[in-house]
Order: sequence, then structure tokens, then C-alpha cells
Amino acid sequence: MARILIAEDNPTNQKVVACLLGKHGYQTFVVANGRQALEALEESSYDLVLMDVQMPVLDGLEATKLIRKDARWCMLPVVGLTAHAMAGDRERCLGAGMNDYLAKPVRTPALLETVGKYVPQPEHAGDRTAGATARAAGARISRSLSGGRE
Ligand SMILES: [Mg+2]
Repeated sequence: MARILIAEDNPTNQKVVACLLGKHGYQTFVVANGRQALEALEESSYDLVLMDVQMPVLDGLEATKLIRKDARWCMLPVVGLTAHAMAGDRERCLGAGMNDYLAKPVRTPALLETVGKYVPQPEHAGDRTAGATARAAGARISRSLSGGRE
């Protein structure tokens, strides 16, 4: 099962992203800052890291730079999560060594599409209808929980 590390300090965003990915068959692990993300990578292996840019202790850009300096993780896909689609965000994320980035609030189709570029989407449990229902539920959760503080 594909393992995704979510580094995000906002509890609501942690839940939304973990829930959406979990519904689509990904195994998720949540940490709250860049330092914890590096510690998690030391302890276990992951297929992809979703990295919030703004976090306490060690932010996502600095954490990604450290990840890229380590030969063990130089090929590890890192996808940034940015608070606003601000001018320059893309350049900052990619410049730090991220493969990609998503603007928050994260929407289900964009999240699945971007993660799926780097980690094959696991097979849905159940049939197509069940999968569509899960996706619709995920979209509702995403809408109802979005708009919290970054
Ligand atoms: Mg943050």
C-alpha cells in the first residue's frame, strides 16, 4: 500500500488531506512540522511527502532542501501545500526541490491527480459506484472544512 507522509501544522488540513487520501486507498501518516517530517523519514520509508510550506520549527521549504541534500531521499516525491496561490509560490516550491505544489484549500480532484502523478492510485475497494460515492463524500468534507486558518 502506498505510504504518504503529510507534514502540515493545521489540524483541520491534516484531517481533510488524510481523510481524502485514506478514502482512495492511500496509507497516510501525519506530522506537524518539517523537523518531524525529517524524523519520520529517518524511521520509515514513504512513497511521497505532502509538505505544507508554512509550518513552525522548520518550514516546508527548508525541510525540502534538507531532504534533497540527503542521497536517500533525493528521488522522493515532495508536493508542496501553499496557503495562497501567491505569485512566486511555484518558483519558491520548485526552487526548494519540490516536485509539485497544490494551493489550499486542497480540492479532491487536484490532490488525487497530483499525488497520482508520482504514486499510482491504489485500487478502490468495491465497485465504481462505491468509489464515486467516496469521492463525492470527500468533496463534501473538503468544502465543509475548507476556509479554516492556514
Ligand atoms: Mg501551515
